[in-house]
Amino acid sequence: MSFKLANQVVEKLQNHGFKAYIVGGVVRDRLLRRPTGDIDIATSAKPEEVQRIFPKTIPVGIEHGTVIVRHGKQSFEVTTFRSEGRYIDHRRPSEVEFHESIEADLSRRDFTINSLALDRNGGIIDPFGGKEDLEQGILKAVGTPSERFQEDPLRMMRGIRFVSILGFGFEETTYSALVENAFLLKKISVERIRDEFEKMLGGPYCEKALTLLKKTNVDCHLPRGPFEFQVQTEKFHWSELTTVEERWTGFLARNQIEDPVEWLSVWKLPNQRKAKVDRIVKLVRSDIDFTCAYTLYTYGLSDLKATIRVKRFLGLLVEIEESELVARFSQLPIKSRAELAINGNELQKFFRQKPGPWITEYLEKIERCVIEGKVENTPSGVKELIEKWQQPYERN
Ligand code: ATP
Ligand code: MG
Repeated sequence: MSFKLANQVVEKLQNHGFKAYIVGGVVRDRLLRRPTGDIDIATSAKPEEVQRIFPKTIPVGIEHGTVIVRHGKQSFEVTTFRSEGRYIDHRRPSEVEFHESIEADLSRRDFTINSLALDRNGGIIDPFGGKEDLEQGILKAVGTPSERFQEDPLRMMRGIRFVSILGFGFEETTYSALVENAFLLKKISVERIRDEFEKMLGGPYCEKALTLLKKTNVDCHLPRGPFEFQVQTEKFHWSELTTVEERWTGFLARNQIEDPVEWLSVWKLPNQRKAKVDRIVKLVRSDIDFTCAYTLYTYGLSDLKATIRVKRFLGLLVEIEESELVARFSQLPIKSRAELAINGNELQKFFRQKPGPWITEYLEKIERCVIEGKVENTPSGVKELIEKWQQPYERN
């Protein structure tokens, strides 16, 4: 994401007489010298005015004041300064009110470290002491913490996610409010909680965040909580896990969960993700030989790499380095059945038999011989092999 392009959007808004700033998480990340995600812009211009000023816009949330501005092939979320009305049932504000000042807009944001704005000249607007909290590693809610968590309980999960990503700790009153209001997480949709939880699992300080989840009893109010794991900050290095599926597997193994698919269904994980976790869990539990060519071929590089990482994360012995696994995989004569020198049709012609399950059985046998280097993967090599075998109906 380009600050240069974002500043051009800010400048254009200013040239039309509006106030405009880069705001929120991106300012926090810039001050921490962390990689930047999406760049959000806040402005005094109303959505219709933003649409008038920029040739390419997408009205994603006009009623909340948000328009996406396409500029230099990038997208910027441009949102009118706003405050939020009463929250209905801890979900969404009943109405939003547009404002002229950035301060009003910053006051609706969740934590002081997220309530910072950056002006065109690099000046920081910081009405709540967010910069100092950033320096001290403190998570402090803007305003009265209890009220802010009651308005939107997801903020508590966001806070725990920031503990995991940044290693920060909660300020005292914010911490007490978290303990008091954790039960309100039941009001939040599983999908929104899951998204925050997955981000939490991806943080280098995840063990610290998990410790906090238990200490505050927040885990009791999450799907399938409370969790059973023992926290061991020294032992588990979450940053060694590279994908969200590996992290879920690590988490499930720590909780000794028997049936991952059922458990993760409650967390509403997409089917593909659940299936991948299930495969890795099974591989982690099994005692497979990573040096066996047929194992490499059957399970594939991606699942096996994941298995190695999760096993290491759990402190289990793995006899092979990832680089050796990759090297062995690249030496496999074929990577999939489609690469076999013979296919089902040819097999059928060769034996002059009706199609049936025997074809798959034969292909599997040939495949195994090729992988184990017993036969060369060429049409003549394979034919020679099957000639040695009997006709399918005579096989024992
Ligand atoms: P990320 O690194 O995941 O993008 P972020 O803090 O930027 O973290 P976003 O969801 O992109 O999170 O939100 C952008 C900004 O909007 C936040 O920094 C914060 O100022 C504000 N914000 C987001 N969610 C909430 C919320 N639930 N309540 C109050 N303010 C929020
Ligand atoms: Mg963001």
